Amino acid sequence: MRKKVKISPESDVSSTIPQGNRICNFAHLAKEMFCKDCQKPLCFENVEKETIHGHASVLAIHCKECLLLNEVNTGKKFQCPNGYSVFGVNTRSVLAALHCDVVIITTWFSTTETVALGQLK
Ligand SMILES: [Zn+2]
Repeated sequence: MRKKVKISPESDVSSTIPQGNRICNFAHLAKEMFCKDCQKPLCFENVEKETIHGHASVLAIHCKECLLLNEVNTGKKFQCPNGYSVFGVNTRSVLAALHCDVVIITTWFSTTETVALGQLK
């Protein structure tokens, strides 16, 4: 059973739309952008929190219909043999870095203002 977080309609819920650029899997995100409880579409304007995991994020989004706080992953996650789950985009980025000049990759992410692996929070 998912935990519902109720907020009053009068609450001052300021918009916390994540700023900057992200890499996201649109097909995966399109499937995730529905409330886990009432199935209504979720809206980026109701993002309460973003937790960055390398190139991917987990967004906490309130459903404006039932007020459930939903967790939305911006990409697919995979289960590792050791039990940890990882975002596929991060695994692919590490593989790409092994085959490319890390300075070029870092400069690209910095110039495009895209959240990168070095910005873990
Ligand atoms: Zn809902």
